[in-house]
Amino acid sequence: TEFAGVHPSLGSALTKRGYETLTSVQLAVIEEEAKGRDLLVSAQTGSGKTVAFGLAMSETLLNEQGRLPQAAEPLALVIAPTRELAMQVKAELTWLFAPCRAEIASCVGGMDIRAERRTLARGCHILVGTPGRLRDHLERGSLDLSTLKIAVLDEADEMLDLGFKEDLEFILATAPSERRTFMFSATVPKQIAHLAKTYQRDALRIST
Ligand code: AMP
Repeated sequence: TEFAGVHPSLGSALTKRGYETLTSVQLAVIEEEAKGRDLLVSAQTGSGKTVAFGLAMSETLLNEQGRLPQAAEPLALVIAPTRELAMQVKAELTWLFAPCRAEIASCVGGMDIRAERRTLARGCHILVGTPGRLRDHLERGSLDLSTLKIAVLDEADEMLDLGFKEDLEFILATAPSERRTFMFSATVPKQIAHLAKTYQRDALRIST
């Protein structure tokens, strides 16, 4: 096939989007040795990192039919530093997972929190959000992470720079310990390595 190692339903989304090849970070996350693992990835914006974590997520989320199971609570959570990035990630995952009929929701600072509560109550497969707002929903009891299988930290270095360390720790402590954790970061300074050590298990280190 054109996209070896990619589930055919996601492959069809990539083709429809006009993609012809995968980028190096995308190829790295779908390699055999990455299967089922936590990932610590250094990747810049523009490297195709969003589709990369989408592909890595799909390995855990999709069933044989290329569908997502019925889910009342999110199966995957993507945490991003800003509303703009979170909305961009949501848009990207929406077309990528469209053939799988994925429900993708967002919880971001500055948006109507009651509307988000209603969306969460209806259920979703994938949730994208910013740290403060996600924590807010957890504390109010409108978000339940008990069935979470994957947590993704997008632009982890940026989130630490913006002072979201405590919110991240709160969110990750709420998620089940039996999960996969992906950390994507432009740079991997000491604080990121420390976060990875605390919240990941035997992570595969990928630098592209
Ligand atoms: P990102 O690094 O996720 O911010 O992605 C940067 C841009 O590259 C986005 O507009 C993607 O849609 C696009 N992109 C990602 N992967 C590919 C690919 N394999 N082929 C062509 N464009 C891509």
